[in-house]
Amino acid sequence: MISVQDGQNQILRQLPHSTPPEVVAVTRARDRVLAEDLAAPFDVPPLDNSAVDGYAVASDDVPAANRRELAVIAELAAGAVFTGTVASGQTVRIMTGAPMPRGADTVYPQEVVERRGDRLSVGPISKGANVRKRGEDIQAGTVALEHGTVLRPQELGLITSLGHWQVLVHRRPRVALLSTGDEVVEPGTPRTTGQIYDSNRFTLRASIEQCGGDVVDLGIVPDARGELRARLLEAAGAGEVVVTSGGVSVGAHDLVKDVLGEVGAIDFWQVAMQPGRPLAFGRIGAAHFFGLPGNPVASMLAFMLFVRPALYKLAGRRRLFAELAEAIAVEAMSKKKGRREFKRGVVRWKNGRWEARTTGPQGSGILSSMAAGNCLIVLEEERGDVTVGERVLVELFE
Ligand code: AMP
Ligand code: MG
Repeated sequence: MISVQDGQNQILRQLPHSTPPEVVAVTRARDRVLAEDLAAPFDVPPLDNSAVDGYAVASDDVPAANRRELAVIAELAAGAVFTGTVASGQTVRIMTGAPMPRGADTVYPQEVVERRGDRLSVGPISKGANVRKRGEDIQAGTVALEHGTVLRPQELGLITSLGHWQVLVHRRPRVALLSTGDEVVEPGTPRTTGQIYDSNRFTLRASIEQCGGDVVDLGIVPDARGELRARLLEAAGAGEVVVTSGGVSVGAHDLVKDVLGEVGAIDFWQVAMQPGRPLAFGRIGAAHFFGLPGNPVASMLAFMLFVRPALYKLAGRRRLFAELAEAIAVEAMSKKKGRREFKRGVVRWKNGRWEARTTGPQGSGILSSMAAGNCLIVLEEERGDVTVGERVLVELFE
């Protein structure tokens, strides 16, 4: 039996390289992973500029008390640049974002001045007010975004503000996916007694896509050696990662580990966790192999714990694990020492704190517990039963 953390470490050690980079348009780069350190080619902002719509003056002209009259000598539209110099006693009407005129270093918001014709009456204001300094956001040559950063809307905006319209990102990892089991049938087709509709392939497919992978869907394979062997070899040729569900426990028809021993190299682990104890990890040819348990909750959980960080690493991400938060248990929870347990939970802000409860029955086949929850309640190895009022760790679902 190995611990969750040892399993994660062993897996990550087997994945030294990330996928090669490719260039994509910024408009197609959301959720992709940056494959280079992106340095700013110029200062951002490139020039001192006004933070407000108002009047630019020299700070020497700002009265310490009372008011002072200035002559308005020009109006700058957005995008216009003032080529002259603001002399003492003068001011220029300026718009937000317009470069500061030479000679001026302070801007009065238009709301605080009085204007009559070309005359402007101003009072005290702090020197240098309402000016955005050149380079105050990013200085030329410094790294604005590090490789391994996931590109959210804000990163995409930052990239385009630097003038780029395309960006170097890691290629999406290709993941070949299949379900195993004589009893498993395709949704949308008739089902006879004893058969169940495939759900794992769809939770896993969506999970793979959610973490940036491309899915090659190889369908359902029956529990038959020859067919399993052929499909696994096909899968290894189709993706850099192969994910299966079912067939890894100790039943008479659990053939995945046997067949993997023939076509590849396999480590079969009992992970000290609940749900989702059996996990196969290994390789077939150049592909990394994950054999997830068949029970729907267990397979999703094993994906989250072991496949997701692996895909993140392959995809070049810097951060591989989700953030945990702390909540107060408002329900007693049973917990066996010596293994890490994951309850499906609901966490919400109530009474000025985060409160966590389980979703109810926690069997590893009860997929509705995943649908009812918004988090996993993570109960560490050394911990025993949880009583009401104890602190627990939670990992929010994406
Ligand atoms: P196994 O590990 O193959 O013995 O499967 C354990 C349990 O998970 C059994 O009840 C299977 O019917 C169920 N199961 C296996 N594969 C799937 C699947 N693709 N979708 C839903 N349930 C499955
Ligand atoms: Mg099975």
